Amino acid sequence: MFDYRIAYGCWLNDSREKPIVDEDWPSIRIDADTLSSLENTMAFLKMAGYNYLDVFGLITNHSWEDDIVSTVSAERREKVRAVIDIVHRNGLKVIYGLGVYSWGFDGIIARNAEVRGTSAQAMCASSPAADEIMRRVVDFVCETFAIDGFHLEAADQGRCECEKCRAFESDIDYYNSINVRVARYIRERWPGKTLLVNTSGYLSWGDRFSERQLAQIAELGREIDVFIDVGSHGPFVDERDRAAFLKTFPAAFGESNGFWIYPPQRWDRLRWFIPHHNQNFQTLKRLWNDGGRACELYLSPLNNPGAELTTLCNGLFLNDPTSDVRQNLRRAVDMLYAPESDAQRERIAAIFDGAEAAFFAAWHPQRDRELPQELSDGVEHAFVWSREHPEKAVPGEFFLERLYGLGPGFPCYLTLHFDAEGRAKYRKRMRDVLALAREAVAAQPCERLRRVQTCLENVLADIDLADQQARVLS
Ligand SMILES: [Zn+2]
Repeated sequence: MFDYRIAYGCWLNDSREKPIVDEDWPSIRIDADTLSSLENTMAFLKMAGYNYLDVFGLITNHSWEDDIVSTVSAERREKVRAVIDIVHRNGLKVIYGLGVYSWGFDGIIARNAEVRGTSAQAMCASSPAADEIMRRVVDFVCETFAIDGFHLEAADQGRCECEKCRAFESDIDYYNSINVRVARYIRERWPGKTLLVNTSGYLSWGDRFSERQLAQIAELGREIDVFIDVGSHGPFVDERDRAAFLKTFPAAFGESNGFWIYPPQRWDRLRWFIPHHNQNFQTLKRLWNDGGRACELYLSPLNNPGAELTTLCNGLFLNDPTSDVRQNLRRAVDMLYAPESDAQRERIAAIFDGAEAAFFAAWHPQRDRELPQELSDGVEHAFVWSREHPEKAVPGEFFLERLYGLGPGFPCYLTLHFDAEGRAKYRKRMRDVLALAREAVAAQPCERLRRVQTCLENVLADIDLADQQARVLS
């Protein structure tokens, strides 16, 4: 089985059963709904065979105070301890998402010239004062919370470009250097913590590591336990090089799902239905065959039945990489729906296979970059896309509504990745899937199947809405 079967938060409320509509992404709220969702989600993950939760946003999303310690109020501390306790009680380990020189230092950088280079978000990597602050953050987190490891995130908010920092040979050299500094400090001061790095920000979306860069990544691999080539818009390690690369790679290597839905923070949980168990199986099977023994699979609200089934099928495969997806789908249907007959089992399996196939037959993976703002997802400017090959940057990570904003957003996935013809095709096939769902509900009524039916009805309504808006705005 895979050694590191990690569920990736990735923010604390991404798997929340109720939406947060009145707050911009990413919300770090911890309220009764956060905790009850987490309780259900962790119990499900344990049952599905995962062994870690990797999560951001426990303490802060943007701002450490200068003394670090006073960043977290006594009340927040208790809430964070409650979160960690829920994860541990359900038999999983907690990997704490830690910004390395960036994520959380905006205030300190604004106030303290000693750590300030050229970036408002990332501390200067040539500043001894910045090193000291980073060590204090690590100590505070380890002294205050019973976490089991760190996800070191150095690269996805850019870097300092001051004269001293420009002496680093390359960006990768720079990010590796600060990751290694922090990793060595943790190893020495807090031994036994799992250390994970993922590739977020290491290259522009759509690019691949060169041979020289792969050698640098292998060096970093000596200092950590897990390296994840996350693949938000395509992997950075070319699959053609991967099996050979992994033969001598010193850490556990993994990927995310290959394709996944980034949970829409402000949406009703039954508004989409895109199971992707077959797609993920292909990704994970290739990873396993190449020697990958880790993965970091994105979480979603599990009261969405498509997300729930996909998470379970993936978990079954991670625990038995000789199993196939056909067999795992039926096992998952038995576990979740307890069908009373073979016909009902096959009907339900066909709903999930049918909905996935309908989506992938109708979308276009390349973004429509000509689209008016109102119909797009708002992430175009948040990421750095490959200058030479922007067309190679494909999800990976799939946004359903605009990432930022307040209130439930327009279903931009149906315009950014579907043309009129694609929507017509998707509608036709999803209507067939809905007919099957209605048959399944009639044969053996249950609450979960009714949720499937509601999801399908909502998707069909959104396809109509997308058609309408696309006509008005183009
Ligand atoms: Zn600098």
